[in-house]
Amino acid sequence: MTIATPPARTRFAPSPTGSLHIGSARTALYAWLLARQTGGQFLLRIEDTDRNRFVEGATQEIIEGLRWLGLDWDEGPDVGGPHAPYVQSERLPIYAAHARQLLDAGRAYESYWSPLEMEAWRSENEDAAAVDINQRLRSMTADEMARRRDAGVAPAVLFKVDNAGETVTHDLIRGEMRTPNKTLRDPVLLKSDGYPTYHLAALVDDRLMDISHVIRAQEWLPSFPVHAQIIDAFGWQRPLYIHPSVLLNPSGKGKMSKRFVSDKPIFVRGFKDMGYLPEAVLNWVALMGWAESGGDKEVYTVPQLVEAFDLDRVKASPAAVSFEKADWLNKVHIRALAAEDLAERLLPFLQRSGLKVGVRDVMPLVPLVQERITTLDEAAELLDFFFVEPPMPPAADLVPGKLTPGEATEALAAARDVLATVEAFDAATLDPALRGLAEARGMKAGDLLSILRVALSSKRVAPPLFETLALLGRETSLARLDRALGALQTA
Ligand code: GLU
Repeated sequence: MTIATPPARTRFAPSPTGSLHIGSARTALYAWLLARQTGGQFLLRIEDTDRNRFVEGATQEIIEGLRWLGLDWDEGPDVGGPHAPYVQSERLPIYAAHARQLLDAGRAYESYWSPLEMEAWRSENEDAAAVDINQRLRSMTADEMARRRDAGVAPAVLFKVDNAGETVTHDLIRGEMRTPNKTLRDPVLLKSDGYPTYHLAALVDDRLMDISHVIRAQEWLPSFPVHAQIIDAFGWQRPLYIHPSVLLNPSGKGKMSKRFVSDKPIFVRGFKDMGYLPEAVLNWVALMGWAESGGDKEVYTVPQLVEAFDLDRVKASPAAVSFEKADWLNKVHIRALAAEDLAERLLPFLQRSGLKVGVRDVMPLVPLVQERITTLDEAAELLDFFFVEPPMPPAADLVPGKLTPGEATEALAAARDVLATVEAFDAATLDPALRGLAEARGMKAGDLLSILRVALSSKRVAPPLFETLALLGRETSLARLDRALGALQTA
């Protein structure tokens, strides 16, 4: 049972300042889940009005991240929609008209103070309270304003907050909050360059785009009362707000940084490149700040998330990021894939490491790695020797712990004979044949298998041996054993 049963219209409104961070992906996911589970709509809106923070290519990067995660949108910059454009820099006249509306209503004013002047005043009045700052901002005489206007100075437009009484705001997961209005400062609505700030643009667009639930980062809580005042000044009904908690570093201390946490990715692109499955990332991200009631269920498919997600259960307390959990969930989701699906997902990683392979080549190998890998990029290291002749195994690796090189050579030669003569070259036949040989020679089966593993793959850690032999086939297997025998003899 969720708070929102009627179809919800939600949006993800990123600023194109960089790649898609997992914290932002979580915000997007919650908004998407709410829209999908209520049969509503999910919008993508690009908030690019802060020209100083704009990063070329970031919009594309964010779009690619969302697409990879499978968070599709019903309206947005690339797909259009009834409220286009969905890029704020293409909507400047709309914001100017709304600023004008507040100016005409006496709820906004033009300010000709330069940022430098205000800074100087602030450093001389360090103890100034919000009310004093507002007083100062609003205090320029009409003559001085006219003089500056005539001199070509462009004003900023500021909202005139109500500094009396208190503002009551509601957050669906945090409940009611009361803020004394004397603590509120007049926010800039339009900068002197004509671009709106978030405080104007986001509120106007949420209204015009008919957003029912605003799900946004906790960072916006301090501006929430001012936003409430602005919406009230327009005479609009406030949408419902949800501010999920910040994410904390794995230690639980400190806000998660925007950079890397040791060698772990924190951008969606990093997860993709390292071979996490999008469904595992979504599962992981969903659990950072939400849990189903009455259970400890942790593994969800995306449709299960849509079904189970409950806005009521989004947590207001900060959540620490656990990369162990990401790894564990990725493993679980990899195991749940159909073989062909996994083969297709492994393909780009195998190709990236230089292997010229197609899905058909990979399909038979899937059972060898499906239970073993944590991330898709680990498969190349385990499977490359099926496709290319591995480097000559170092003789030392061919001689397990307690054996002498002579004993290892004899064992290898005997195993070669078995492999050359065994009738069926399949795992079910090879397994007892080789174990029997070890026993007959009075050696540990593990030692014999270890020699063979290195001989075939030049690796100490490789997929299960009998299946490996069967897949390599008799001819290739014998050729590699001969090569290894050569290596041992010249050692
Ligand atoms: N553009 C804002 C940001 O990236 C979005 C905040 C919101 O969702 O309203 O922080």
